[in-house]
Amino acid sequence: MSIRSQLSDVRETLPEGVTLVAVSKTHAPALIEEAYAAGQRIFGESRPQELAAKYEALPKDIEWHMIGHLQTNKVKLIAPFVALIHSADSERLIRVINDEAIRNGRVIDILLEIHVADEETKSGWTYDALLKYVKSGALAAMKGVRVRGVMGIATYTSNEFRVRLDFELLQQYKKELEAYFDSSFDTLSMGMSDDYPLALDYGTTMVRIGSLIFGKRDYAAAEKEATV
Ligand SMILES: *Cc1c(COP(=O)(O)O)cnc(C)c1O
Repeated sequence: MSIRSQLSDVRETLPEGVTLVAVSKTHAPALIEEAYAAGQRIFGESRPQELAAKYEALPKDIEWHMIGHLQTNKVKLIAPFVALIHSADSERLIRVINDEAIRNGRVIDILLEIHVADEETKSGWTYDALLKYVKSGALAAMKGVRVRGVMGIATYTSNEFRVRLDFELLQQYKKELEAYFDSSFDTLSMGMSDDYPLALDYGTTMVRIGSLIFGKRDYAAAEKEATV
């Protein structure tokens, strides 16, 4: 199946108001161009170098989203152009994003990544720490970032009950946090290829889908191509 048809199959399953981020990490620019030709304009990547290289190589009306864990020393690579950072997961990282945004004369949209999965490895805020941080007012004082909402990754499991629990929690956290922001806090980024149909039941507004559009990722090949 072509990227065009896989993209359209995914789109057909999304209700109005749910934004599709096509996750293109590890895939060559030529494949992104195929999705672009089929009308897709929002792409997600998880490595800053790869993201910056693809930004240079591809049409400038693409909206690039950073979805993977971001190290503070890499923020400057993407600060000039990134449209949304889904993975704002620490006070220090948000401070650096704010500094780099101001340096670039921009306001950068971010999502607060919350840890809900039943796994040690997944990054993100614990809700308690996040709430404390939000209540401190530190975010409100930053002129270079605009908090658009919340992002989360559900537990990687075939146990549908557990996945639903994770999505339900994220929905609840997002709702609770709305009280501390203005109406631009409107985004709930959750749902990937394997679990997004469940995320739709819990009010997701943004799904991040890779494999269903581009096929399986070949990390070894991507590594060989270095940074595109
Ligand atoms: C890779 C990735 C995705 C997409 O995963 P698929 O299973 O290919 O849809 C979504 N979100 C994040 C944070 C990712 O790293």
